[in-house]
Amino acid sequence: GEKMGLAALNGREIPKQDKVFGISGRAKAAIKEKGHENVANATIGALLDDDGGLIVLSSVDEAVKSLEPSQYAEYAPIAGTPGFKAAAIQAALGGYETSRHIGIVSTPGGTGSLTNAIANYSCPGDKILTHNWCWPNYKNIAAEQGRGFETFEMFDEDGKFNLADFEYKVNKLLRIQDRLVLILNTPANNPTGYSLSLEEWKSIIEILNRVPDDKVVALVVDIAYIDFAGDEKKVREFIPELEKLKSNVLPLLAYSTSKTFTFYGFRCAALICLADSEEIADEFVKVCSYSSRSTWSNSPRGPQEVVAKIYSDKELLAKVDEERKEFRDMLLARGRAFEEEAKKVNLKIVPFRAGFFVSIPCENPDALSAKLEESDVYCVPMDKGVRVSIASISEAKCRKLPAIIKDALQSL
Ligand code: PLP
Repeated sequence: GEKMGLAALNGREIPKQDKVFGISGRAKAAIKEKGHENVANATIGALLDDDGGLIVLSSVDEAVKSLEPSQYAEYAPIAGTPGFKAAAIQAALGGYETSRHIGIVSTPGGTGSLTNAIANYSCPGDKILTHNWCWPNYKNIAAEQGRGFETFEMFDEDGKFNLADFEYKVNKLLRIQDRLVLILNTPANNPTGYSLSLEEWKSIIEILNRVPDDKVVALVVDIAYIDFAGDEKKVREFIPELEKLKSNVLPLLAYSTSKTFTFYGFRCAALICLADSEEIADEFVKVCSYSSRSTWSNSPRGPQEVVAKIYSDKELLAKVDEERKEFRDMLLARGRAFEEEAKKVNLKIVPFRAGFFVSIPCENPDALSAKLEESDVYCVPMDKGVRVSIASISEAKCRKLPAIIKDALQSL
């Protein structure tokens, strides 16, 4: 980071200007000049319809509009309203019954859940661990709290999830620190669209169960995209596996309503622990509530009331699920279209299963992204490739993009 002014930078690398902000500004300008149909703005991390309009579930919208003033005006309890907590557990687990002890604390967005997990299960100076293809904000959330950041290679040369490097990095960090916050963003990972298979999950659990008993691991599963990853039951198959973890490895689910209920701006989420004792679950609620109280205090009440209302009304819940499924199928079709065309033109993409994004690995992501702008294609350069948001472009554009990207790559 550059020296800025009076602010204490505290080791954080704060860019002068946000790169993505610049790209999306140019995308908007291009749309204005050339028309929406002639531009692909694949920078946006929200689900848009084919015309570029934000998709909002109408059943959810109706529930929002039925709120009584006191339901949104009043403070919510720090850990969340009882109705929301019950609903969020159901929503996250998808009806799966766990024998574990559940602790839950509401947060303003999945972002808040990650903040809370890092604040309470790592120490200043510790490094958190995640896969090298990841949401860049993980590093910033860690840095904000004086935590370092380390990644393992997400894929090996054969494009398989890299369990060897995963194990190596877990053990390496636990030789130098007593605790490890480990974040796995699956299913429908941002930025790759990868989802861990059940077999890979089993191996991950085995590896974590070999961690020495005197070390503590918080395994944060960031399930922000779970409801757009495929069949509701299938995408939650990993949850029972978490019950096999030893006592010193605590599974945490970072559940967010941002995508699931098209609530991005409402800031409504929860961090859920599946502890193997009541004491650990109680401790989780206490420490996370304390952190909440001293950072954002309570979370917005309005969206919690809405989620509770949806889960207390079977008919309404069915309507919401049905409506979401339609949009999920639309998104899955976009993903398949992109994959198919990529195969046809021999464009290499990072292993993709489902979700909002597809990534293209390349040597110089900034150069590729700049080159693509010349063809009115706007996407986000990451460390090891460019991220294309299929959530924000039509299936027709998903079909066109691979050939354009292949050409751009070859012309670099
Ligand atoms: N995790 C991942 C991987 C994300 O991409 C996002 C949002 O883009 C979040 C978590 C958090 O979202 P929110 O704070 O809006 O719930």
